[in-house]
Amino acid sequence: MRMSKGLFPTLKEAPKEAKIVSHKLMIRAGLMRKLASGIYTYLPLGYRVIRKIENIIREEMNKTGAQEVLLSALSPQELWEESGRWEVYGPELMRIKDRHNRLFGLGPTHEEVITDLVRREVKSYKQLPLTLYQIQTKFRDEIRPRFGMMRAREFHMKDAYSFDKDEKDLGKNYKRMYEAYQNIFDRCGLRYKAVEADTGPIGGDISHEFMVLAKTGEDRIVYCRKCGYAANVNRAEYVKPGVKGQGSRVKEKGLKKVKTPGMKTVEEVTGFLKCKPKELVKTLIYKVDGIPVAILIRGDHGVNERRLEKLLKAKEISLADEKTIEKVTGAPLGYSGPVRLKIKIIADSDVAAMKNMISGANKKDYHLININIDRDFKADKVLDIRSVIPGDRCPKCKTKLTFSRGIEVGHVFKLGTKYSQALKATFSDEKGKERPLIMGCYGIGLDRIMAASIEQNHDGNGIIWPSSIAPYQVLILVVNNQDKKQVKLAEEVYKSLEKEEIEVLLDDRDLRAGAKFKDADLMGIPLRITIGNKTIKENRIEIKIRKTNKIHEINKKDLISKIRSLLEM
Ligand SMILES: [Zn+2]
Repeated sequence: MRMSKGLFPTLKEAPKEAKIVSHKLMIRAGLMRKLASGIYTYLPLGYRVIRKIENIIREEMNKTGAQEVLLSALSPQELWEESGRWEVYGPELMRIKDRHNRLFGLGPTHEEVITDLVRREVKSYKQLPLTLYQIQTKFRDEIRPRFGMMRAREFHMKDAYSFDKDEKDLGKNYKRMYEAYQNIFDRCGLRYKAVEADTGPIGGDISHEFMVLAKTGEDRIVYCRKCGYAANVNRAEYVKPGVKGQGSRVKEKGLKKVKTPGMKTVEEVTGFLKCKPKELVKTLIYKVDGIPVAILIRGDHGVNERRLEKLLKAKEISLADEKTIEKVTGAPLGYSGPVRLKIKIIADSDVAAMKNMISGANKKDYHLININIDRDFKADKVLDIRSVIPGDRCPKCKTKLTFSRGIEVGHVFKLGTKYSQALKATFSDEKGKERPLIMGCYGIGLDRIMAASIEQNHDGNGIIWPSSIAPYQVLILVVNNQDKKQVKLAEEVYKSLEKEEIEVLLDDRDLRAGAKFKDADLMGIPLRITIGNKTIKENRIEIKIRKTNKIHEINKKDLISKIRSLLEM
């Protein structure tokens, strides 16, 4: 491609709203432009990257034996009502009305549509296992679209769905997909971790998220450098290094009620009382299988809900609503405390080791200080229910866990029969008995791979694409467009690379050399060939590697083989 003949608009400055490096560089390098909040147009350079990622995904999916389909983005309300998600999904599901006043959802995910297809076409165990996938545009009405394509309202996903006759076959399919995902992310050149994760609104039993490690990631994860254990912070298991309590030497002080007008959060209360978050105890009212229970957790800790659910052998736990909180504590949200509380109290073991703690007084605008367990209240149970903190050790090998931030680029779920039961998608087994299909679902965000790759691969001058997903492999830069010899040689080199089917950009634009060099670095093409005066005089061609800034000077006749070997690096 000759740059003088195409659309390659670069910018010196990123728009103010771009907060993270990938968003800034995607705009500045001319990969995309904003159309409306959370909605973007891909320009030629950006779309080539998407197509590269798409092809890698397609190849790996096909290798697993999955078949590609294309489902409609529009799906009728009735289908979403069958699964119950028309209500559950809330405002994130975009809904539109047709001219007959029929409602449709613009798909953020396609469990309903695929299950509807399969229940019509698959009747017998002989048709199983079956895995279908698509690469398609998805919609999600984010309340606060941000970070460019990282949290956009329209985006591109690969979603696959597996249908099996039993759990054992689902296990095989899940493993196959998991491995395909590893191949995909490896080929895209990403540094990532597969972590145990929550199933969220998709539902199901087991799930793993594939997290690209990056400072700007919205998710917090922990992993073990020794054995590879990895999990989302909100559900990570851990072994405590031993409780550092204040010990029995600390004298219990007298319980006192203090006025804390309008102070509700840990930050507000500790700021107002001039104390540390670890001296405060959060009294969180949860509903455990419908029954209100108070959970005591240190001010600087979070609750590991999965652990809580498991230890209590509960089917469902969730934070109570404000009405319930007022009913059981007698005070609005923000003033709950353990003293004289009438419901069951479960304390985290770190709380049980505290002395003279601060918590709500169960009275609006008041807190209690110097609360002591056993003297002022009794805990019905003491359990390890806080989420993982720095210093905790790996649950498998006891190595100290490492904390990181991650960008979710893929998610695999064992769904089980959640959707097949709701939509009555059954098959007849070997004995002729009707049974619900066992499902799995597997998603990958294409735009997120692109953005995450930039988060991991850039420097002060711009993007550094791995060659597998780079929009072009080589950029030829003509230093002086007025110099006929330079232009002629550049044309020659350009044609020879095209002939070899090496993806090449020729920067033949009438710009100052400085601007071209800047753009070349910004766009991040892996190899840059510079054709200038020196090239003509010495008859040697200069190749610069974007990633290392290393320069190779070679004879023209060795050009193709050198480029090939450099690209395979
Ligand atoms: Zn370990």
